[in-house]
Amino acid sequence: MAPRRYGFAKLGRTGRFPGMSKFTPLLRSVAVAVLLGFAPWARATDTNPTQERADRFLALVNSTYQAMITLESNAQWDASTDVTPVHDAASETASKARAAFVGNPTLINETKALLLKRHELNSLTIRELEQLLLNAAEGPMTNPKLVADRIAAEVAQASTLNGFEFKLHGKPVTVNEIDNLLQSSTDLAERQAVWEASKDSGKALKAGLIKLRDLRNGVAKELDYPDYFALQVAGYGMTTDEMVKLNDQFMHDLRPLYLQLHTWVKYKLAEKYHQPVPKRIPAHWINNRWSQEWDGLAEGADLTPFFKDRSPDWIAHSAEKFYMGLGFPKLPDSFWVKSDLYPVPAGSARKKNTHASAWHVDLANDLRSLQSIESNPEWFKTAHHEFGHIYYFIGYTRDDVPPLLRTGANPAFHEGFGELTSLAAGMAPYLKSLGILPADFKVDENAFLLNDALAPGVPFIFWSSGVMTHWEADIYAKDLPADQWNKRWWQYVRDFQGVEPPSERSEEWCDPATKTHINDTPCYYYSYAIAQVFKYQLNDYIAKHILHQPPQSCNYSNSQEVGDFFRKIMVQGKTEDWRKILKDATGEELSTRAMVEYYAPLMKWLQEQNKGRPIGWE
Ligand SMILES: [Zn+2]
Repeated sequence: MAPRRYGFAKLGRTGRFPGMSKFTPLLRSVAVAVLLGFAPWARATDTNPTQERADRFLALVNSTYQAMITLESNAQWDASTDVTPVHDAASETASKARAAFVGNPTLINETKALLLKRHELNSLTIRELEQLLLNAAEGPMTNPKLVADRIAAEVAQASTLNGFEFKLHGKPVTVNEIDNLLQSSTDLAERQAVWEASKDSGKALKAGLIKLRDLRNGVAKELDYPDYFALQVAGYGMTTDEMVKLNDQFMHDLRPLYLQLHTWVKYKLAEKYHQPVPKRIPAHWINNRWSQEWDGLAEGADLTPFFKDRSPDWIAHSAEKFYMGLGFPKLPDSFWVKSDLYPVPAGSARKKNTHASAWHVDLANDLRSLQSIESNPEWFKTAHHEFGHIYYFIGYTRDDVPPLLRTGANPAFHEGFGELTSLAAGMAPYLKSLGILPADFKVDENAFLLNDALAPGVPFIFWSSGVMTHWEADIYAKDLPADQWNKRWWQYVRDFQGVEPPSERSEEWCDPATKTHINDTPCYYYSYAIAQVFKYQLNDYIAKHILHQPPQSCNYSNSQEVGDFFRKIMVQGKTEDWRKILKDATGEELSTRAMVEYYAPLMKWLQEQNKGRPIGWE
């Protein structure tokens, strides 16, 4: 989940230079002098009246914010681990209380007034105030009717989405059954019927989405953002154009690899279904309903048998050991007492949310995770992913990081650490060191790489940076008329993914709305693309500069230096611009260089496999 929970701290106004405590007093004064010389904000002293006014304001806001988040997280935790109408109602009440505080007009006006005098404020204060506005922008009570209308429309949309009854050949079918059929069926007519059934919900969701587009844009305008997409990318300190350009750059860099992968998969699938090789891949040939991942095609990388004898408890503790080996602390006892890590026992009446998540309940030391760990490699990786979030929470829970800034440097950093930990957990040398793979296990490195590349790796970028990002920018930032929504969607699927629908999709349908995020996490999906790119970049640095092992096959375990590298990024929370944090840690801007290099051996293999085949779909 997107970690949107924040914790409490003593609001010390000193110690603004992260990492400075390592310095001797002499060095510290030299370093401060250097910083003062180069940082215009640092000329403001903490004693001017505006800074004092901001300090008093933020002390109150931070402590109330932390209290509200704690209340809301506890209520949401109960609602997620024991789904009952009573818990749902309590959770809704707590969310309303939090929203009333965060969007309070007095709070917004004071924040804006202080930001008008930003030259008199230090940089940490400015970051806190800007974060306050971003939080407020989701529900600015300067326009209560608009906010109420938006909440009502979102509740209605969620209810349509969650309650939608899919039908196959006239009979009700669950989403799990749809996914299982797309995993297993080799009958193309059946696959097409299942795929088409999976698109039925879009029709029911279209009217609600049109309404939500306008309400969300209205909410963003209330705080002077041009539209809702612009508001979301402001969390990165970027404009819509900059974000779209960044994502286009990802696709530009990865396109040669994608074309090779696309060709190989298209030939593989044509053989599987005994069909002539098409130009574009028909969407119903792929297991995933949106072709966002192309799993199930790499042979020789299935680790399922090796996890059969490992208990779920062993899996959870192995993720903690991974981090302790990097020099991180043991998790507090309360984590193990309060978390909900295993499936509900058969026969129990309790219902829980089965989606894995990590929680920073009080923005301090109350850390929890919700999982349903079973004995297989997927849960082994997921446990490592979730513990990545947990240790990020621990990293920035410090007096120097005020509760408002106890979050990832940008939304993608949090997901990126989870994904990085999950990538490290799947590497053969680590699995051998744990005794999961036998010491003499012969690793098919190409199969491992192909497996990574197909899911979530490379096609995911063309889905997230390409289709999702462009389409949402069109409807929110460019007000694309609703009678062109489906046409534009499929134009992007054809152009970016090289995939086409099995039959014409007219405006009667609204295929984008079948994707949950389009309804409930709008204008956010590029964050997942950035998290992938970030993951490879960090792994590349660790492998080459710290471990001196190949990035495709290395072992992070028990390396204090890897831990130091993690901590350097984690401890800062959002107190610094993410571009600076990344540059300081890796010496690089955000870039696909590492991702392209990671797959270089696979690229060579694909080029050999594809010799003589037409590449691409033009
Ligand atoms: Zn995550």
